Amino acid sequence: MNSVDLKSADEPKEIGHEIYSLITELFPICRSITGDGYRQTMRILQRNIPLQIHEVPSGTQVFDWVVPREWNIKDAYVKNAKGEKVIDFQKSNLHVLNYSIPINKVMSLKELKEHLFTLPDHPDWIPYKTSYYKDNWGFCLSHNALTKLEDGDYEVLVDSTLENGNLTYGELYLEGEEQEEVLISCHCCHPSLANDNLSGIGLATILAKYLQTASHRLSYRFVFIPGTIGAITWLALNEATLNRIKYGLVVTGVGDSGKITYKKSRRGNTEIDRATSHVLKNSGQDYNIIDFYPYGYDERQYCSPAFNLPVGCFMRTPYGQYPEYHTSADNLDSIHPESLGDSFSKLLAILHILENNRTYLNLNPKCEPQLGKRGLYSSIGANELALLWVLNMSDGDNTLLDIAERSGIEFAAIQDAAKQLLGHSLIIIY
Ligand code: ZN
Repeated sequence: MNSVDLKSADEPKEIGHEIYSLITELFPICRSITGDGYRQTMRILQRNIPLQIHEVPSGTQVFDWVVPREWNIKDAYVKNAKGEKVIDFQKSNLHVLNYSIPINKVMSLKELKEHLFTLPDHPDWIPYKTSYYKDNWGFCLSHNALTKLEDGDYEVLVDSTLENGNLTYGELYLEGEEQEEVLISCHCCHPSLANDNLSGIGLATILAKYLQTASHRLSYRFVFIPGTIGAITWLALNEATLNRIKYGLVVTGVGDSGKITYKKSRRGNTEIDRATSHVLKNSGQDYNIIDFYPYGYDERQYCSPAFNLPVGCFMRTPYGQYPEYHTSADNLDSIHPESLGDSFSKLLAILHILENNRTYLNLNPKCEPQLGKRGLYSSIGANELALLWVLNMSDGDNTLLDIAERSGIEFAAIQDAAKQLLGHSLIIIY
């Protein structure tokens, strides 16, 4: 039997620290859906995994969308009449409306205010705002800082470029014994935000690094793409081979201390949905499983009707449901190595099920085989019950996960029973 033991990873705690330190390195970079910050991020990931970096030219038609111009930024600030920087991009890249067009102008506070964004409910936090598809410029700042701005003239500089270039994304394919693929997707387009974005990037990278050293039956495809436009672009460029994707997860928001949330694929009952539900139900911890809805992350694109891929979304507290979401408070203090390590082990447990979820055929289907003479039957206990379930249900129709679900016995015990029966030539892989 092709047994792939993905559960024997290093200590989740150590893995959590490894993910956290990668996130710490990536945190200061000003990323966007295109540009050098994105490339720099991909190059840092390449130190961990042999990621292929792809460049797709601006203007490329991707279904109903067009790859936008590339955005890069050197500096941005607002200076008051005394020449003091009252807003400074060098202090936080969230201060600039992401994708701001260049501007260099002196203006009144009244005019400036039309381009300022704050969060009055969280007056110390800087919001994260973007304007990818509408030419605009702007600054984000804390509400407290806004209230301190005095009347007068302000010098406003956004030293950015918005020109034909490329959309960059990273991809890693890990070939398994079979062509069936598991897609792991995360968006990488957010600047200094830790949970939304970086936690998914960090976890996916270290997971890929781990899988490189493990033997695996399935093939794995990791994509590190800008949100929405990146997923659309990737799908448009890879439409011919999408049928290889048998399972998939969008991974994001996996570093906060909330419970795991799994958002099911559009189909709702695919193997990835069932494997994930099985792991969460047997984890002994609180969890949340929600149905698909067409809002959220890139599962929206993967699950669009023409593709309808078996891709769910694996996260902890969902986007928008934690106050720090899309603000400067989603920083390195809002994520924890323990949570990252826990998310990692649960993902690995899900992949372990996918790797080992085979269908077997009972070679002795006329009544029960005599287990006692094979040393398999001591007294009725959990192990014996699992053996009986696997024997009874192995008629070529049921996978081990089917048997685990129907018997209420955990997958690992069912898998172990199958191993024993296989060792005694009582079942064969179907
Ligand atoms: Zn986001």
